[in-house]
Amino acid sequence: MLKFLTDHGLSDSPENYATIHEYFAAPDKLLAKAVDALLMSGVQLTDAGILELRASLEPADGNNADAGQHERLELRQQARHLAELTARAASANEQFGKGLTSDLGGLYQAPEPLISQVRDMIDRTEATERQLASALAQIQELRQEVEAERGNAGRDALTGLLNRRGIEAQLAAAGAGDTIVMIDLDHFKQLNDGHGHAVGDRILKVVASSLSDCLESHEIARWGGEEFLALLSGTGSKAAKALIEEAAEALRERHFRSRDSGKRIGKVTFSAGLAVIGKGGVEDAIARADAALYEAKDAGRDQIVVAKASK
Ligand code: GH3
Ligand code: MG
Ligand code: MG
Repeated sequence: MLKFLTDHGLSDSPENYATIHEYFAAPDKLLAKAVDALLMSGVQLTDAGILELRASLEPADGNNADAGQHERLELRQQARHLAELTARAASANEQFGKGLTSDLGGLYQAPEPLISQVRDMIDRTEATERQLASALAQIQELRQEVEAERGNAGRDALTGLLNRRGIEAQLAAAGAGDTIVMIDLDHFKQLNDGHGHAVGDRILKVVASSLSDCLESHEIARWGGEEFLALLSGTGSKAAKALIEEAAEALRERHFRSRDSGKRIGKVTFSAGLAVIGKGGVEDAIARADAALYEAKDAGRDQIVVAKASK
């Protein structure tokens, strides 16, 4: 423990000891996860930072039940804030790595020792990036836990939409004639790579709210990373397709720009597969919508494919 403190330039204060002890003793607790996320993002731990972290995660001295409730809420808000903070630090580092890789091209004429030094730096940055990717996954988990403790286990923490679990009940209640739509953003990895994960996250939020606006009375969930599932009731496949086409158009009309760099991101498009629930039930419709989505991707993206009716 002492080594951990000296390695990170921390003093041997009781708070630091307590924090490091909890960090090693209870790796699944929020405190340990927060420290992990900070370390993986390359944020320097400081005595003041540790105190701040403890203050944000530990309930104060309140001794009645109401105060306890209030502090719980406060704690969750702080944890969420921390998750956001870490995500931002992580994405700054990611950008730095990108800058180095793209600048290497100009160094072809440089003397070999310099090139190999820069290569070393890039290797190291790439290793950091891999760590960051796992830090980001951890942040996602942390966010989801925060939501779960708030009683929002059925909501996606980033977009506020239902998540896979949250739409289960509606799917179970869906029946013949309702329509399943699988929607997947086009070339989203490229967008993340070019503009950073934080920009990708912001776009996911905008896409989610644009889809909810367009599909108003219907159910929509974040099915996975950049994939959404819509459940449309009481529409035939023609009307359903027209509705999704409107949603696609609403998105195409927006011209995104990165808030930090000011760089144009341009249009964001999606591909969709649509299947009306038939005799095979909901599972079968989801599988057919998924297959139709892949057809749409294969055919060049930014389009909607309607699956054939189930036999
Ligand atoms: P395609 O048109 O074939 O769908 O290409 P794609 O790049 O969208 O598909 P692929 O499945 O290769 O990549 C999906 C990307 O979505 C990879 C991942 O980084 C990104 N992604 C998934 N979840 C999130 C998230 O929560 N935030 C951000 N920023 N990106 C995410
Ligand atoms: Mg996908
Ligand atoms: Mg995609």
